[in-house]
Amino acid sequence: MDQIRIEELQVFAHHGVYPEENVKGQNFYVNVDLYTATREAGVMDDLELSTNYGEVCRFIHSFLTENTYKLIETAAERTAEAVLLEFPRIKGLTLEIRKPEAPIPLPFDSVSVKITRGWKRAYLACGSNMGDRESYLNKAVQELAEDNKCRVIKVSDWMDTTPYGGVEQDNFLNGAIAIDTLYTPEELLEFLHEVEKKNDRERIVHWGPRTLDLDILLYEGCVLHTEKLTIPHIDMHNRDFVLKPLRQIAPYEIHPVLGKSVVQLYDEVKRNGEKHTV
Ligand code: ADP
Ligand code: MG
Repeated sequence: MDQIRIEELQVFAHHGVYPEENVKGQNFYVNVDLYTATREAGVMDDLELSTNYGEVCRFIHSFLTENTYKLIETAAERTAEAVLLEFPRIKGLTLEIRKPEAPIPLPFDSVSVKITRGWKRAYLACGSNMGDRESYLNKAVQELAEDNKCRVIKVSDWMDTTPYGGVEQDNFLNGAIAIDTLYTPEELLEFLHEVEKKNDRERIVHWGPRTLDLDILLYEGCVLHTEKLTIPHIDMHNRDFVLKPLRQIAPYEIHPVLGKSVVQLYDEVKRNGEKHTV
């Protein structure tokens, strides 16, 4: 992606672990690569179509002088997030904070922290088979939209489906949601669990009835397997009730392990798999 670069922006601020650093202050230097499409602005010669780097400089300068952190790790993390929330055309950034006057009693040039952060596209599955199913799913979309670290991009239709997994229970309403998010996969799962809990979700029977289930299907081409989290969702390719709504909003998205599009996976499950959708 195209980049706009800011080099060695000087900020006199008060970050540091030692109290005297917080009182006296020192110079910090910020380097930023902003990942953003500049083509349209470049062709049209129109600032409205780009991000004003002067504004970004002022924003970072104010942010780092108005807030004080012990660690430059934290200063970098919070600044990166604030920039991504403030400037909608910036998809990601690499931000470095240098601290050449750090209190180290040895000869050195500089210490610095450099991080890369950005908006990630994720696809979620949602399902409900208790109470007012439609209202639970709509509530989930609303809570995602209201969280500043998530942007709802697309929402599928809600589809009536028969239950999966062998537990005798009522029909589900299922759907898929595309979001852009600043959460890591683990943070996103935690956030989704909070939304589930707020919506009366209780974990009693595994694969049993639930007011709201929110699962991560895909996260920006990421492949991940930990005790808590498997991405892509471990069983998505076997579930027509997941693939059908996902196909509506992301037909050509590729499953990064199976190397097949959502359309292909849905066709396969429709041909060979269990049937839970009409
Ligand atoms: P279900 O399998 O019916 O969605 P739960 O919602 O109770 O059941 O999820 C059980 C656990 O599955 C969660 O606590 C979570 O740690 C784990 N899990 C693993 N991968 C994922 C994923 N991609 N999305 C959501 N949960 C996941
Ligand atoms: Mg779940």
